[in-house]
Amino acid sequence: MLPRVRAIRRFTVRTVLPEALAALDDLALNLRWSWHAPTRELFASIDPERWGDVHGDPVRFLGGLSPERLAELAADAEFVARLNGLADDLHRYRSEDRWYQDEAQRRVAAGEPALPSSIAYFSAEFGITAALPQYSGGLGILAGDHLKSASDLGAPIIGLGLLYGAGYFRQFLTRDGWQHETYPLLDPDNLPLTLLREGDGTPSRISLPLPGGRVLHAQIWRADVGRVPLLLLDSNVPENDDLARRVTDRLYGGTSEHRLHQELLLGMGGVKALRVHARLTGTPEPEVYHCNEGHAGFLGIERIRELIERAGLSFAAATEAVRAGTVFTTHTPVPAGIDRFGADLVAEHFGGGNELPGIGVEDVLALGRESYDGGDPAVFNMAVMGLRLAKKANGVAQLHGRVSRGMFAHLWPGFDTSEVPITSITNGVHGDTWTDPSFVRAQTEAFTPDELASGAGWYKSEGGIDNTTLWELRRQMRSRLVADARVRVRKSWLKRGASPAELGWVDGVLDPDVLTIGFARRVPTYKRLTLMLRDTDRLRRLLTDPERPVQIVVAGKSHPADEQGIRLIQKLVQFADSEDVRERIVFLPNYDIEMAQTLYPGCDVWLNNPLRPLEACGTSGMKAALNGSLNLSILDGWWDEMFDGENGWAIPTADGVDDPERRDDLESAALYDLLENTVAPRFYDRTDGLPVHWLENVRHTLATLGPKVQATRMVRDYITELYTPTAEFYRALGGGDGADRSAAPALADWKAQVHQAWPGVRVEHVESEDVHDVVKVGDRVTLKAFVALGSLRPEDVEVQVNYGRVGEDDELDEFGTAELALTDTYEGGRYQFSRAFTLAQSGPFGYAVRIVPRHPALAGATELGLVAAAS
Ligand SMILES: *Cc1c(COP(=O)(O)O)cnc(C)c1O
Repeated sequence: MLPRVRAIRRFTVRTVLPEALAALDDLALNLRWSWHAPTRELFASIDPERWGDVHGDPVRFLGGLSPERLAELAADAEFVARLNGLADDLHRYRSEDRWYQDEAQRRVAAGEPALPSSIAYFSAEFGITAALPQYSGGLGILAGDHLKSASDLGAPIIGLGLLYGAGYFRQFLTRDGWQHETYPLLDPDNLPLTLLREGDGTPSRISLPLPGGRVLHAQIWRADVGRVPLLLLDSNVPENDDLARRVTDRLYGGTSEHRLHQELLLGMGGVKALRVHARLTGTPEPEVYHCNEGHAGFLGIERIRELIERAGLSFAAATEAVRAGTVFTTHTPVPAGIDRFGADLVAEHFGGGNELPGIGVEDVLALGRESYDGGDPAVFNMAVMGLRLAKKANGVAQLHGRVSRGMFAHLWPGFDTSEVPITSITNGVHGDTWTDPSFVRAQTEAFTPDELASGAGWYKSEGGIDNTTLWELRRQMRSRLVADARVRVRKSWLKRGASPAELGWVDGVLDPDVLTIGFARRVPTYKRLTLMLRDTDRLRRLLTDPERPVQIVVAGKSHPADEQGIRLIQKLVQFADSEDVRERIVFLPNYDIEMAQTLYPGCDVWLNNPLRPLEACGTSGMKAALNGSLNLSILDGWWDEMFDGENGWAIPTADGVDDPERRDDLESAALYDLLENTVAPRFYDRTDGLPVHWLENVRHTLATLGPKVQATRMVRDYITELYTPTAEFYRALGGGDGADRSAAPALADWKAQVHQAWPGVRVEHVESEDVHDVVKVGDRVTLKAFVALGSLRPEDVEVQVNYGRVGEDDELDEFGTAELALTDTYEGGRYQFSRAFTLAQSGPFGYAVRIVPRHPALAGATELGLVAAAS
């Protein structure tokens, strides 16, 4: 039987632009307009009303322009000059040397390791503009901001993702406040995307085998994010059977099998798409593959497959080469947030006749197996595979790094949690996307570029932005939010079945002079959307206070399968529907980038009250800060490291209170207290009409947080701390074409030997000369360790001493690590290692000797997960 193919062919007739306006196409097709206000202003000037209707999608906008209007514009010399000026600016932006090129040269001159020639960034979501709804929340926005900032820095990154036919859902409310979802189909031909095509014009294809002889085909769309290409795989092609066509139908939908197919396509298909793109454009192969969260983890399997095929490596050797070029970022400390599949389901795809050449099903399963105490043997864990296939791994804020080291410590038994090889790079946000254009303009006019970048402009004594101006700018942003909220509330009520006649009150919703608090985010339970409703009487009093009222704007989508989240939204909506408070608290449906861009600047206070430490980073508060909002937040995620007492407030947490009800009581009471006694009084305390103390906090936030929360800072950190060292390993282990192919097999063989020999590796005994029960600071102590190494050579190991203060539990707190040197060799694989050191600290002091594997191609002592300690 022939596969059933839906006989749908769509045609989109793109507008033919007059010659003089050809540059409009270039401007529309490069997503830089999404963060370049002058380009958006040019589009808007063509037809302001229609521009508003298309929600900032220039491709759709241009498609709807009449030939008459186009002819008019083509004859308008001033317009054409402005257009060509912007096109030149885009061209310059894309081709000039930027930070990365300068840094590359500096490194060559300084003899430092070279920056990666290219970096592939894989993510299941990308949030770049509301017009391309390929994101559900923070993870996707972060990925979008990563690409935009990489572009600004000139970094040679290429993004890999999926093109979801209906993106994430649109949210509506029913009359009684229940979330309702719709999935409007996107038309890729009408989006700022171009299809990758072969030289003869046929669309390029990649394919993957599926069980039962099925094949999953996909086409590849390319979005241009400034200088950065983003490739998006789309399974909606005629060669696919119905089921396969639906693999990329929507973000995070469907069954486990559906998700697995999405992730196989993203990871394995993504690597194939990269190769097609490289072949068509001649771009170099990446030296670094960044797996942003576990979803794309199968990218490692595809690269292992390639190396087996291209270079004839064994599975183990190919794995070493692949790991050498991989960075993994974990984004969630919530165990339920980790992506897991049934091991059986994964086995069906890599076994039972579907084996990839040279890769046994057991090889694949072992990568994702929870082979530790408390792990589920029936499960394939994508985060675990991500960590096992990466040379470097990180969390997304300092606290989250610590929490992740604890969460994954069972993968490194025998090591201290602090040694778990997961570092952290704190997220950032893309300044030009998330700062209100009027606020950017005011700063660019008043500050030099250096003052803008360093934040120093906010403190300059002359020609800066004074308090009156700052307060007026803040008021304008608040007023725009109020106007936008009224439009959204009215629309929502009409959808909920109200008649226009009942909605007169909507004109009085929110007040441009009232202290405005924002709370918008996805609605998983840990974010505690309804914490503010803990004591509704108290909240009512805050909202309706005759002298110092507050108003609250709330938004957020719940995952459609999360009924608990949907119920939380309903509870909030029903409260906001109450006649006595509905002008002071609103729920705005369909939180997305477009809403967010008006919401953050319009809020005076950005509220964040997750259950600590479950918010990995959180980025909405950073975006608010860029616009001069003050954060009011639990000390979680980024706030835990960036709150400084002057840039907002910390809501005290009841860490350690196990009863969740009691914890919510305590933390909500603390929140109300802060609002009532500190936040509102400071906002309403005026001198000559200005809230002077408040404005000091705003200025301080802008000057000091502004630079730190930038995604350019984040991407630079990734480049220097993770990408470049990873690229070094990649070069050393011969992952690239034409590289030395012997290094990876040698490392794989060495690791196999070490694993085999390890049962014979022991610290037999330790002597400390000159140590009595009481020693003095400054005393010199010599340690001698007598070790057995079995069949290993002394250079295969490092004998270490961990030393430091002994805590109450008899364990070392805050220890240091030092290496012992080989000082004697005995018969039968036995050795003496020793070291002398000076006691520098008073107090209870202890030490422990251990042996770990050592090899120059290891990222660290933990890489093999082997350690032999003195018993
Ligand atoms: C920034 C952003 C998020 C993520 O915010 P968090 O504070 O990390 O929860 C989610 N959705 C949209 C539309 C955003 O702009």
